[in-house]
Order: sequence, then C-alpha cells, then structure tokens
Amino acid sequence: MSTNGLPPYDPQNIFARILRGEIPCKRAHETTHSLAFHDINPLAPVHVLVIPKGAYVSSADFGATATPDEITDFWRAVAATAQLLGLEASGYRILANTGVDAGQEVPHFHMHIFGGRALGRMVP
Ligand code: C5P
Repeated sequence: MSTNGLPPYDPQNIFARILRGEIPCKRAHETTHSLAFHDINPLAPVHVLVIPKGAYVSSADFGATATPDEITDFWRAVAATAQLLGLEASGYRILANTGVDAGQEVPHFHMHIFGGRALGRMVP
C-alpha cells in the first residue's frame, strides 16, 4: 500500500499519542473506531479533526486497508461531529491532506472539518 511519499506508520506520531492518552486533546466526539478533537491551531471558527483509532498513515491507506466497519464508523463520526458542533444548518468543509505533495504534517490519517463562517471558494 502506498503511503503517498510518507514513511511507514510511526506509532510515535502525535495523533497515536493522543489516542493513547499520552497527550491531551479537546475532545469533540468519540465512537467505537474514531475520535474527533479540536485542532490546536484553528484556521476557522470551528476547526476539528476526525481520526480513526486504527493505524493508517493517510486517507488512501485508510480507504484501501481499513475494515468496512471502520470506514462506516469514520464517516458517521464526521457527520455526527459536524452536527454536534452546529455546522449542519449552513454547512462546512472537509479536507484530508494526503501525503507529501499535500503537505500532510501528521502521518496518521485525519479529516479536517472547517466551519462557523462562509469559507469562500477552495483554492488548491
Ligand atoms: O493535514 P495536516 O497534517 O497538515 O494537519 C495537521 C493538523 O494537526 C494541523 O492543523 C495542526 O494544527 C493539528 N495538530 C493538532 N494537535 C497537535 C498537533 C497538530 O491539532 N497536537
């Protein structure tokens, strides 16, 4: 499985450490297979990350190798988190930087949820 130019999964990455409780986070939602928490450096009034609890480097790794239960749980966690944070009425943006060219900093798959204001058109 390609890791999109990133090294193989590193169990010491910061999100793995958050999942193990070694580093605190501001939790927004949790399900069997997923955790949502507020980004430490928010780029919008609401900026939350949703991550699978399993060890997946990138969105491509997750999509290719996670179980159907994990994938269903993840997408439901994304939708539930947006709803819990009051974003459903006027919408929000989800984004997953995937690999080196996207500038993915943390090598544990995460989906950004941005909302709380009109976000404008997306630029690559
Ligand atoms: O998609 P990318 O890998 O660039 O994003 C990583 C995100 O993780 C950043 O938005 C950063 O602020 C966030 N982060 C965090 N808590 C940490 C470390 C990074 O919310 N302890």
